[in-house]
Order: sequence, then structure tokens, then C-alpha cells
Amino acid sequence: MRLALDEAHRAVRGGDVPVGAVVLSADGTTVLATGHNEREATGDPTAHAEVVALRRAALELGEWRLTGCTLVVTLEPCTMCAGALVQSRVDRVVYGARDEKAGAAGSLWDLVRDRRLNHRPEVIEGVLADECASLLTDFFRDR
Ligand SMILES: [Zn+2]
Repeated sequence: MRLALDEAHRAVRGGDVPVGAVVLSADGTTVLATGHNEREATGDPTAHAEVVALRRAALELGEWRLTGCTLVVTLEPCTMCAGALVQSRVDRVVYGARDEKAGAAGSLWDLVRDRRLNHRPEVIEGVLADECASLLTDFFRDR
């Protein structure tokens, strides 16, 4: 999560909301990819930290299935990212702050653990939650 927070700080430089993500290898020992929110920087509406990190991890592994991998992100994934997490077959999602307005991993929806889906990653929430949340609060207060 410390690495994901470092990534989140990088998003601000491009004028983006500070959210950062990291993908860990199946054995948990290697960082496969990192990513931060790049919507403003790239003009890509899908360039959320999670999607950026998942794409890079898949490139690194040479395939789209990220079976066994863990995605760590500073903010609860939205519906798009929750969908991407299910599609990429990651085993675990770890997030910091809850997103009561758009969260799709326990707050507003719980897409990643919907029993109708045949792949449901484990969810661990609240890791360094205060730090992850205050990064966002500070960002929006400064705007
Ligand atoms: Zn998202």
C-alpha cells in the first residue's frame, strides 16, 4: 500500500485525482506493475489507476489472466475497475479508503463478490485507509 500511495502522489503531477495501484505477482514477492490515475494526463476516460496497472501487469506476464495476483489500490474500485478486476481473474483486491459515492467493492455495490459471477476475488479493505483518504481530501480541498 505504501507503493500504491507513492503512485497516487504521481497522479497529482498530471492534474489527476490521487489514486494509485500496484499489482503483485501470484507468489506475492514481485511488483508486476504500478499505475496511477491518468485520465487528465492522457485524455482516456478508462485510465483509472487499477486499469492502468492491470494492463501493465498483463503486458509484463504476456497474458490477460492475472490468476493468483493481488491488486492493491488506495481507493475502493469503481464499477468499471471492479469489472476489470473480475475479468483479469486477480485473486485478491486490497484497498485503502472506501468510496461511499462510487465504490463497487463493498460500499455502493459489491460487484467483485457478486455470487452470480463465477470469479470472485477476495477483498481486503481499510489498509492505511486514513492516509489514502486524506490524500484525496487534501487534493479536493486545494481545488
Ligand atoms: Zn475505477
